Amino acid sequence: MAVEETPSVAPTWHTLDADAVAARLGSDPARGLPAREVGARQARYGPNAIREKARRSKLRMLLAQVTDFMILLLIAAAVISGMLGNLEDTLVILGIVVLNAAVSFAQELRAERAMEALKRMAAATATVVRDGQPQAVPAEALVPGDVVLLEAGNAVPADLRLVEAVDLKLGEAALTGESLPAEKLAGPLADPGLPLGDRHNMAFKGTAVMYGRGRGVAVATGMQTELGRIAGMLESVGETRTPLQRRLTVFGQQLAIGALAICALVFVIGLLRGEPALLMLLTAVSLAVAAIPEAMPAVVTVLLALGAGRMARGNALIRRLPAVETLGSVTYICSDKTGTLTRNEMRVVEAFIGGGHIASVALDPARPPADALLRAMALCNDVVRAPDGRPLGDPTEVALWQAAADAGIDKAALERNAARVMEQPFDSERKRMTTVHLDGGGFIAYTKGAPEIVLALCTGMAIGDGVVPLDPEQATRAAERMAEDGLRVLAVACRRWDMLPGNDPPGALEHDLTLLGLVGLVDPPREEVKTAVATCRAAGIVPVMITGDHLATARAIARQLGILTEGGMVLTGRELRMLPEAELRRRVAQIRVYARVDPAQKIRIVAALQEQGEIVAMTGDGVNDAPALARADIGIAMGQAGTDVARESASLVLLDDNFATIVTAVREGRRIYDNIRKFVRYVVTCNTAEIWTVFLAPFLGLPLPLLPIQILWINLVTDGLPGLALAAESAERGVMQRPPRPPQEGLLARGMVRHMLWFGLLMAGVTLLTQAYAIGAGLEHWQTMTFTVLTLSQMGQVMAVRSDRDSLFQQGLRSNLPLLGAVVLTIVLQLAVIYIPPLNPLFGTSPLTAVELLMTFVLSSVVFAAIEIDKYVVRSRAHARQMPAVDSPSGKA
Ligand code: ATP
Repeated sequence: MAVEETPSVAPTWHTLDADAVAARLGSDPARGLPAREVGARQARYGPNAIREKARRSKLRMLLAQVTDFMILLLIAAAVISGMLGNLEDTLVILGIVVLNAAVSFAQELRAERAMEALKRMAAATATVVRDGQPQAVPAEALVPGDVVLLEAGNAVPADLRLVEAVDLKLGEAALTGESLPAEKLAGPLADPGLPLGDRHNMAFKGTAVMYGRGRGVAVATGMQTELGRIAGMLESVGETRTPLQRRLTVFGQQLAIGALAICALVFVIGLLRGEPALLMLLTAVSLAVAAIPEAMPAVVTVLLALGAGRMARGNALIRRLPAVETLGSVTYICSDKTGTLTRNEMRVVEAFIGGGHIASVALDPARPPADALLRAMALCNDVVRAPDGRPLGDPTEVALWQAAADAGIDKAALERNAARVMEQPFDSERKRMTTVHLDGGGFIAYTKGAPEIVLALCTGMAIGDGVVPLDPEQATRAAERMAEDGLRVLAVACRRWDMLPGNDPPGALEHDLTLLGLVGLVDPPREEVKTAVATCRAAGIVPVMITGDHLATARAIARQLGILTEGGMVLTGRELRMLPEAELRRRVAQIRVYARVDPAQKIRIVAALQEQGEIVAMTGDGVNDAPALARADIGIAMGQAGTDVARESASLVLLDDNFATIVTAVREGRRIYDNIRKFVRYVVTCNTAEIWTVFLAPFLGLPLPLLPIQILWINLVTDGLPGLALAAESAERGVMQRPPRPPQEGLLARGMVRHMLWFGLLMAGVTLLTQAYAIGAGLEHWQTMTFTVLTLSQMGQVMAVRSDRDSLFQQGLRSNLPLLGAVVLTIVLQLAVIYIPPLNPLFGTSPLTAVELLMTFVLSSVVFAAIEIDKYVVRSRAHARQMPAVDSPSGKA
C-alpha cells in the first residue's frame, strides 16, 4: 500500500480518478483503511471537528467573578476601611468575596460541564469501511483515507472524493447557498479551478444526502475541510439562550437597578443619621452585592442543563436548550405511527393471492403464483445479512425477507441467477419501489408498494400458472379488509421485459404490471403508548397520528391506542391536498389521524395548528421531514430510525423512538420550569427581604440591623447551595393534570410578584421585630439574634417553596435530600458563627443563651408558617373548585 500524502497539499482531488485518490491517501476504495492505521492518523490529524470559538479559560471565568463592578467597589471600600481602622474586618470581607467568587465559579463551571455533556451526547456518527467491514463510528473519529458510506438522510461527515454514486443528490445550501440538491458522480473532472458547487464528484462536510447512496474517500477532516476553512457557521447545542434566560436577564437588570437605587438611599439616610460614612458605604455596597442576583443566570443554566441531562437518561436528548421550556407549553403532539406508536416489529401474517385470502404460513414456494410472490418479496428488497446472519434493513422489508426466508427462499442464492441490473428506490412520496433483474434471456421487473398505487399500475393478476385480467375492485376490497384489521398492506407485482427497459422519466417502466399478490403485515402498538396517550389527554395535550400508511390501518391503530375517539376526525393526504388553507385551519383542531400523507404535507399541518395558536411537537425521521421539524415548536427526530438530516433540524431526539418518551419529556419540561420559578421566587424574596430590613430600620427608629459582613455572609450561605438543590425537586403532584403553560406567560405570572413582595416584607418585618424586641428588652445579643433570624427565615422559606401547593408535611422532609442537606449545613454554619469563639469578633456575633436561641428559631419559623398557610388556602380553594391537581391520586410527588 502506498504511503499516504498530506491531504492538504492536494486540494484538487476532483481531478484525480478514484483509485489514484485512494492510493495517494494509502487507502482502498473497497476495503477502506486498515484499522491499525487509524490511531496514528487520529494522532496526526486530530479530531474531525470544527473548532469552536475559543472558550473562556478557567482563569478568566474566575477573574470575571471578582472584576464585577460592585465587587470591585466592595473590595475598595473594605480596603479603605481596613487602612483606617480594623484590618481584621477587611480581611474577613475579602475572604467572603473570595468564597463567593468560588461558589459562583463552581456554578458556572458546572453549567458549562453540563452543556458539554449534552453536546457530546448529540454528537453525530458516520458509517465507515475499515478492514473491509462497514461500521458506525463517531464522526469525530474519522481520518483522511477513511472510506465513508453515504445514504439518504446522512450528514456528510468530512470532505469526500466520491468513488461511487448511485442517484446521489446532496443538499449543499449550507456551503454553496444553492437550494436545489446537487447531483453527484464518481468520475474525475478536468478543470482544477472549478468552484465548490461544480465539483460534482466531491461531497463536502456539512452538506447532506437528500437522495440515493454513495461511497467516498475522506480527503480532508476537521479544520482542513472546506467547512473548516469558513468555520464559525455551525450553530451547536446550547449556544442559543432560551426565552426564559433572556427574560431573566432583563428581570435581573431591573432588579439590579432597583436594588442600587435603594442602596444609594440607605447610604444617604445613614449619613443623615450621622453614621460613619465608611461604614455606610460598606453597608450599602454589601447590600447591593447581596441583593443583585448575579448568580441567577448561571444557576438557571445549571437547572436547565441538569434537567436536560436527566431527560437524556430517560431517552429524550435535548439538542436545543429552549426546548426544555417549550415542552411545558406543548398543546399538540403529532406523531408518526410506525415505530413511534407501534413497535416496528413487522411480521407478514396474511396474503391475498390468486383471488383469495390465506395465512402467510400457507405460502407454498412450490406452487404458483406463491413462488413468484415469494421471489418478488426477496428480490425487490434491500435487506442484507449482517455478519451474524441477522437481516439488516427497513422493518417492512425485513418482514418480507423473513417471510420469504421462512418459506425457504434465500435472497442471496436467488441473486446469483437474477442479479439486480436496475432499480428505482423506495421513497415515501411515490410509495413504491421497483427492481429489474436478469431473468433467463430477458429481464423481470418487480414492483412493490402501497396497494392503491400499485394496483393502479396493474392490468393482470396471477392465478396459478396463468394471468387473468385484474378486477381492481376485488383487489381493493381485499386490501381494505386487511387494513381494517390494522395491517400494513403492500401490493407486489411484476412484469417481464425482453430488453432492458428504460426508466426515463423515473417510473416509466412501472405500467401494465401483473399483480402477484397483496401481503398484510402486523405491527403491534406499543403497550406503554396507551397510557401515554391518556396522560396527554389529562395534561391538555392532543395526540395526533400522521402516517404514510393506509387510512384503514391508521384508523384501526389509532382507535386501539385511544388517539381516535368519538368525534375525532380523520383525513387523507389526498383530501388534505384539496383542502384550501382556510378550511384546513378551521378543521385542523378536530383532526386526530392523517393517513397516506407525504412528509411534505406535514408542514401544512404544523402551520395550520400554529395559526390556531397551538404549540406543536412533531416527530419525523426522513430527509423530507426536516422542514416540518424545523417549523414545529418542538421538532422531534428519531434516534434509531432517523436520519442525520432530521436530527439536525430537530430540537429533541428520541433515543428509543418511543411516543411515551415524548410524554415523559413534557412532564420533565414542566418540572424543570416549575423548579426554576421556585428558585427565582426563593432568591428574589430573600434578597428583597435583606434590602427591606436594612432600608426600613431607620424609619422605625432602629439602628443598623446588620453589619456588612453579616449581609455578605447571608448572601453566601443562603443563595448558593439551597437554591441549586431545588433542581432536585420532584415534579409537583398533578403536574400532568393541568393545562399547558401559555407560552407568552411571563416568568412572574401566577402570583410570583405577590409572593416575592409580601413574603419579602414579612421576612424583613420579622427580622425588624426581633431587633426591636431584643433592643427593647435590653438583650445585649440583639444583633446576633437579628442576623440569625434573617438567615434561618430564608431556610424556612426555601423549604416552604418546594411546592406551589402541597405542604412540606405532605411532601415529606426526605423527598429532596440535597435540599435538606443544604439547609442543615447552612444552620450548622450559622451556629458555628455564633458559638465558635474565634469567629465572634470576625462576624460581630456573640453566643446566644438557650432561651435566646430558642426565640430566634421560633421567630424564624414565622415565614415558613405563613407560606404554608398561604398554600393551604390555595389548596382549599382549588378543592372547592374541584381542581384535580390537588386531590388526584396519580401524581407522584
Ligand atoms: P409512518 O408515517 O406511520 O411512520 P411510514 O413512514 O413507514 O409510516 P412510509 O414509509 O411513507 O410510511 O410508507 C408509506 C407506504 O409505502 C406504506 O404504507 C407502504 O404501503 C409503502 N411502503 C413502505 N415501505 C415500503 C418499501 N420498502 N417498499 C415498498 N413500499 C413500501
